[in-house]
This record gives sequence, C-alpha cells and structure tokens, in this order.
Amino acid sequence: MPETSLQLGIFALGGTIAGTANAPGATVGYRAGALDISELLRGLPFPAHCALTARQVAAIDSKDLTASHWHDLLDAMDASPGHQAAVVTHGTDTLEETAHWLWRLHAPGQRPVVLTAAMRPADAPGADGPGHLVDALALAADLAQRHAAGQPSAVWVTLHGQIWRGLDMDKTRPYHLPAFESVDSGPWGLVENSHVRWLRDPAAALQPGPQDHAQALATLAAGAQRWRQDRDAPWPWVEVIYATAQADPRLIPALVQAGVQGLVLAGLGNAQVPQRWEAAVEAARAAGITVWASSRCTRGQPVPAGQPPFSAPQHSGQFLSLARLRLDLCLTLLAFRRA
Ligand code: ASP
Repeated sequence: MPETSLQLGIFALGGTIAGTANAPGATVGYRAGALDISELLRGLPFPAHCALTARQVAAIDSKDLTASHWHDLLDAMDASPGHQAAVVTHGTDTLEETAHWLWRLHAPGQRPVVLTAAMRPADAPGADGPGHLVDALALAADLAQRHAAGQPSAVWVTLHGQIWRGLDMDKTRPYHLPAFESVDSGPWGLVENSHVRWLRDPAAALQPGPQDHAQALATLAAGAQRWRQDRDAPWPWVEVIYATAQADPRLIPALVQAGVQGLVLAGLGNAQVPQRWEAAVEAARAAGITVWASSRCTRGQPVPAGQPPFSAPQHSGQFLSLARLRLDLCLTLLAFRRA
C-alpha cells in the first residue's frame, strides 16, 4: 500500500467533545463547542496511510441544532470531493437525530460517514473524546477501504468502543457512561485498540430489514431529496406530545390552531391514546394534520393493534425513538408537499 492512500475528511459541529469546563475538573456546566477541531486533533495518533483534512462547520451545543446545520454539513462534505470517508464530530444530545437524518439521505454509492461525540468535555479528567475520535478515524479508514473495494457504504456512529448503524442507536443516559445503546439491534462492531472488529457484515447495513415497509422507505427517501434540493423550503412543523395519566387534551387544538402539520403521539403502553384525547386527535386529523401514534415506552416497537386512526406507524421493522419518528414524519410531509 502506498505511503498515503486514504483521504479522510473531518467535519466538526461542536458538542461536548469540543467542550471546556467552566471550573477545573468539572464534568457538568461546561461550554460545549469551545475548541476548534484542529485543537482536538493535536497530538492524536492517526491511522496509518491516511491523510486528514478538517473543517469546522459549526461550534454549537447540539441542543441548538437546526436543519440548516444539516444543510451546512452536507454542503461542506460536497465541497470536499477528495475525501473517501467522513468523520463528523457532534454533541451527544441530538446525535441520533443527525445520524437518522444522514441515514435517510444516504445512498450506498456515497462515501461512508462516521459520527462520534463525547460525554465529558475535552479538559475533564477521564475525557472520552480523544479515544472516540481515534476510534472514529480507525472506523472511517476501514470503511473507506471497503468502499474503495466496491462495497456499499452507510452512516455509522461510534462511541464507547462500539459501532452502531446510524439508524440504531439512541442516547439513553444524560450523564453516565455508556450513554448510548441500540435497543433492537446491538452493535455491528467494536473498535479495539484502533482496530475494527465487525460482528456483522457492514456491506449489509443499508439493506432494508425484513419487516421494513418498502413504499414508506421510498417516501422517506423522496422527502429527503426534496429537502436537500430546496434549502429554503419551510421545515414541516411536527411536534411530539407526551401522554400521561390526566394528560390534558387542550394542547392538541392549540397546536392545530397555531399551524402544526404533524403530530407524533407518545402514547401509553402499546401506543394507546388516552380516551380524553380521542376527540381532539380525531379533530386534528379531520383538519388535515398527519397524526402518528407511538409509545412513550423507550424500549421496543409497539405491536400493531386496532385500526387507524390510533395505530402506530408501521414503516420500520425495528424500534424507532420518538425523535426519530418525528423526523420520519417530517420527511413524509416533505415528500407529499405540493411543489
Ligand atoms: N449538550 C452537549 C451537546 O449535545 C452534550 C454533549 O455533547 O455530550 O452538544
């Protein structure tokens, strides 16, 4: 292999991985996105035979992420034709939403993408960011080689030494490590001492699952394309509303009146809608609002029961968190929006 044969592009968006503490040793109350990507890379070991280019796309706390950051990220990637795989550094709070969005936009012929993040600021004792970045580069190098050999690519996430598909992982803990997990699928591989050990064939990552609904996935892809083509298109307003005992239905007509276009109901148990919400939900549907009912349970897909209007969306054969479902509803509305 020649001395430098792989080009990796790094695209930084900020987050805790680039954070600095406000007080020595603090692991909360820090400033996310304080350090430039060049500072994060300084002194790190890089994979052999790789050349890196790094670009600071944004320097945000990912709690403030918007769809225009996704356009900026994709624009930056498109404007960097030389790289063979991309590493994206990100905050953990909305990592799964960016991973989901990139996943829905991704085609197998495109360059592989690896997202990573950290739970502790860069100057914290036990900072996890440097190790995650080294792992992400090792994974990107592995994927770049596979893609150069003709394998289809995908969007991946690595933290805590685990590799997940961009579709599979969620942040499940606000502070403790490991903070991420995959509810239905488990990791696809591990990064160990800068070596990638695949547990499943990464070439199969983008294949739809046996329970995935092909037409719904095509709709999501069409919505993604429309969004990417029209940067100025208004973002569909979709809210998640959370059912509890005693949940007051008045929020629903208030949102409808304010112009909401889609609702994801975080229903009870197996996507159950409280009886006191039913009339408001029916009225929202009658007003043309798309309503998807899912569950506030955080582990596991609701099982189909009953008929619409209160059944959960069945487009995915695996668990999708409420944040991910909300994005899929945005894409569905984008796909069906009149030009
Ligand atoms: N609030 C931070 C962010 O999402 C949290 C983190 O990165 O861990 O940017």
